[in-house]
Amino acid sequence: MRLTRFDALVDISRVGAWQYTTTSEDRVTIGAGVRHCEVERDGQIELSVPLLFRAVPQIGHFQIRSRGTVCGSIAHADPAAECPAVAVALDAQLDISGPEGDRSLPASEFFLGMWTTALDPSEVLTAVHLPRWPGRTGFAVEEVARRHGDFAIAGACVGVQLAGGRVSKAAIALFGVDSVPVRASAAEAALTGTQAGDADTVEIAQMAVAGLEPPGDLHASSQLRLRIGATTVARALTRAIEEAANA
Ligand SMILES: Cc1cc2nc3c(=O)[nH]c(=O)nc-3n(C[C@H](O)[C@H](O)[C@H](O)COP(=O)(O)OP(=O)(O)OC[C@H]3O[C@@H](n4cnc5c(N)ncnc54)[C@H](O)[C@@H]3O)c2cc1C
Repeated sequence: MRLTRFDALVDISRVGAWQYTTTSEDRVTIGAGVRHCEVERDGQIELSVPLLFRAVPQIGHFQIRSRGTVCGSIAHADPAAECPAVAVALDAQLDISGPEGDRSLPASEFFLGMWTTALDPSEVLTAVHLPRWPGRTGFAVEEVARRHGDFAIAGACVGVQLAGGRVSKAAIALFGVDSVPVRASAAEAALTGTQAGDADTVEIAQMAVAGLEPPGDLHASSQLRLRIGATTVARALTRAIEEAANA
C-alpha cells in the first residue's frame, strides 16, 4: 500500500521449517509458510477447522490466495481481514520467535490496532494453533464486499456447539467494524444455554454490535458498517445453528 519504505525486504517464503500443517486431537497448527491456497485445498483443515476453511476462499482472488499466507494475514492485522477474526473467534494461540527467544500469545492479546500487533519489529509469527471443537458443531462466515474479491466492508465468523438441543458454546467475531477483530462476548453469553431452535438471531446480532462505533470511509458510513455487521452476524448464526442441529 506504499505506506512504508524499506531498506531491506526479507522473503520468508522459502523457509522449509515453516511449511507445515499438523493436526492433533485438539488443535490444528499452521506454520508461517502455509499459503491461503493450500488451506482451501486441505481436506483435513476442512474437517478439523471448518471456520478457517470457509473463511479463506473469501480472501481476495485466487491470485492473492496463491501468494498470501495465513500467518502473514494475521501478522498484517488488517481490521477487515478474515484470518485475524477466525483466530480471535477460535481463541487461537500464536507462536512468535525473535532474537530474545520464543513466546506464545493468545489471539485476544495479539491485535492492538489497525495493522498493529503485539509483535516486536524483530519478531516473526511462526505458527498459529487453532483449537478443534468436538461434538455437534456448526460454523459460518458471512461478509459483504462492494465487489467480489474486495476486502469486506464488514463480516462475521460464528461457531456454535450444541448439547442436548441447547447451545453449549458459541463464538462470534466481527471484522471491519473496529480497528481490531471484535469478539462479541455478551452476545455469546446470551446465546449460550438457549434451545437452538428458539435463538433470536436478529436480537443476538444487535447485541453483538452494541457499543461499536466503526469508522466511516469512502466505502461505507459508520452506520452502514454497523448494519452490515449485525446482518452478517444474524446470517452466520442462522447457518451455524442449522448446521449444528443437523450434525
Ligand atoms: C488486491 C488484494 C486483495 C486482498 N483482499 C484480501 C481480503 O479480502 N481479505 C484478506 O484477509 N486479505 C486480503 N488481501 C491480503 C492478502 O490476502 C494477504 O493475506 C496478506 O497481505 C498477507 O500476505 P503475505 O502472507 O504474503 O504477507 P505480506 O503481504 O508479505 O506481509 C504483510 C505484512 O505482515 C508482515 N508479515 C508477513 N508474514 C509475517 C510473519 N510470519 N511474521 C511476522 N510478520 C509477518 C510483513 O512484514 C508485512 O508487514 C488482499 C491483498 C491484495 C493485494
